[in-house]
Amino acid sequence: MTVTIYADDRFEQDTVQVRECPHCGAHAQMLPVSTPRFETLQQTRAGKVPVGYLCSACGEPRFARAHVRSIDSNRIELAEGIVEIERPREHFAFSYLPEDVRVYFDEALQCYAADIFNAFAAMCRLTVAASMDALDDRQQTLWRSAFDEIVHIGQIDDATAATMERLLFSGDAVAPLIDAGQAAVLLEIVKDILYQVHVRAARFRAAMKVRRFFAEEQSGKLTTLRRPRGAGLGS
Ligand SMILES: [Zn+2]
Repeated sequence: MTVTIYADDRFEQDTVQVRECPHCGAHAQMLPVSTPRFETLQQTRAGKVPVGYLCSACGEPRFARAHVRSIDSNRIELAEGIVEIERPREHFAFSYLPEDVRVYFDEALQCYAADIFNAFAAMCRLTVAASMDALDDRQQTLWRSAFDEIVHIGQIDDATAATMERLLFSGDAVAPLIDAGQAAVLLEIVKDILYQVHVRAARFRAAMKVRRFFAEEQSGKLTTLRRPRGAGLGS
């Protein structure tokens, strides 16, 4: 995808851009609506420029930055590969988390979406600590066993696993610094284990409650059939 800006400030994009919208979540077309003025770009010779879009699904503004590929006397070409400034949020069943875990993890995901990876890691530490605090001793062991399991099934290399383990469980005041790749691993680990220890258990309990309710209601109906005529409805 290339954006070309002409001397009269008209601009065109040569291919359609479809990405997940950070506002509505739809995989929607990004409609280009604004670029910097041609004259300004010629004067400043900026290397990176903002481009404004609208989401075709919800109409919210979406902003991106693009590298300037070439500046000629009558046209300026932007390079392929725009970078969206607002990213889509990671999805998670937050309603199943205890309140403090929910707040910490929500802020962790905001840091991740903003590429602030060590702040993300720090919020993950707090998320894990709050999660452990909400669980009993037996449930707390789930965190460690689930961590070991995900390291195994995810084929996470020893060095990364050691960094993740120190980051999440050591309790050291100073956590190891992480990069984008390690943050991606950390995100998947914490999401998976939070799901196992909070979401899956809560959904299972809710499902059992519903099934018991219908089972008891069904047995109640069977009892109703045995009642004398006129003693059922409205009584
Ligand atoms: Zn949208």
